[in-house]
Amino acid sequence: MPTIPMNDLRRQYLAEREAIDEAIADVLQSGWFVHGPQHAAFEAEFRQYLGVEHCIAVANGTDALQLAMQAVAADRPGLVVTTANAGGYTAIAARAANRRVCFVDVEADTLCMSASDLESVLSTHETAAVVVTHLYGRLADMENLMPVCEKYGVPVIEDCAQSHGAGRDQRAGSYGAAGTFSFYPTKNLGALGDGGAVVTNDRETADRVAGLRQYGWSGKYQVAMSGGRNSRFDELQAAVLRTRLPLLDTRNQRRREIVARYVAAARGSRVRVLAAEGPGHVAHLAVALTDRREDVREQLAVSGIATDIHYPVPDHEQNFDFVASIRPLPVTEAVSRQIFSLPCFPELTDSEVLHVCAALTDLGSERT
Ligand SMILES: *Cc1c(COP(=O)(O)O)cnc(C)c1O
Repeated sequence: MPTIPMNDLRRQYLAEREAIDEAIADVLQSGWFVHGPQHAAFEAEFRQYLGVEHCIAVANGTDALQLAMQAVAADRPGLVVTTANAGGYTAIAARAANRRVCFVDVEADTLCMSASDLESVLSTHETAAVVVTHLYGRLADMENLMPVCEKYGVPVIEDCAQSHGAGRDQRAGSYGAAGTFSFYPTKNLGALGDGGAVVTNDRETADRVAGLRQYGWSGKYQVAMSGGRNSRFDELQAAVLRTRLPLLDTRNQRRREIVARYVAAARGSRVRVLAAEGPGHVAHLAVALTDRREDVREQLAVSGIATDIHYPVPDHEQNFDFVASIRPLPVTEAVSRQIFSLPCFPELTDSEVLHVCAALTDLGSERT
């Protein structure tokens, strides 16, 4: 059997070929390539899908984080507070927004931000904004995180780059002052290139982001806001996302099914696959924990199964020069040595999923 890859974007394109080719041809023939009708229609459709008032499409997910920070914390001094296990994007965006960062630990069972550790930071550090990442597709513990932020009057930005469509009563991106998305090709809703968006229910925030994404203009050639830049989203990518948005919930369901099978297959073995159950989790990644990571990855590789680590180096151990204070992050550090990711994308065939399951079961129990 050939190697089962972490992802294969060609399969998705081939399955949707007619719709995508048609959408692209329509844009080419329209002669309108940036900020035209596709872009406007995508913003409207995505905002409706999420149940929020405003959507501002931008060039990528890191820009979305930066512009959201500039918009929601415009008049607030202080730090950006976030977790250190989510790939460093928030820290990079904070640097671009001229903010220092401080890290909070995660909960051992969800790997998302710990409300109690957040409270210990907010009670001791002047904070401009908190960025909550819905990691691996899981809606973070908003029921407990939001009241802590409200208590200290700190705005929340939700990083939804891995959680398009996750939500029970309301969707990821609709809880905080703003939500940010990436449409990088491997995300649950992915373009054929880069893309991103900021969503919000606040008109002023939306207006700020809309100005900042285009040079800080209020109108053509009129700079009304400093700190602006070019972060536009193009018509071709908007047209592609419009063909894909109606398929998102079905594809998320397929991801959850794949993870559920891995969880069952690994039960009793030396790896524990994190569950991704219900609408509050969209299974962006299938993440497993083990004390014998090198051995396990090697054994899976021999069975033709690709694996990866999301993410191998926690942010506070990266070469970042804008970290305000290093606090102890025991869960983040312990988990970073145990995690690895298994192939998880909707176009995996049933036989590929079964092959991964068999290999997980074959890993044997912790005692052998
Ligand atoms: C992918 C990702 C981003 C960054 O998005 P880009 O479009 O690549 O800039 C931010 N946060 C998280 C959690 C991500 O997974």
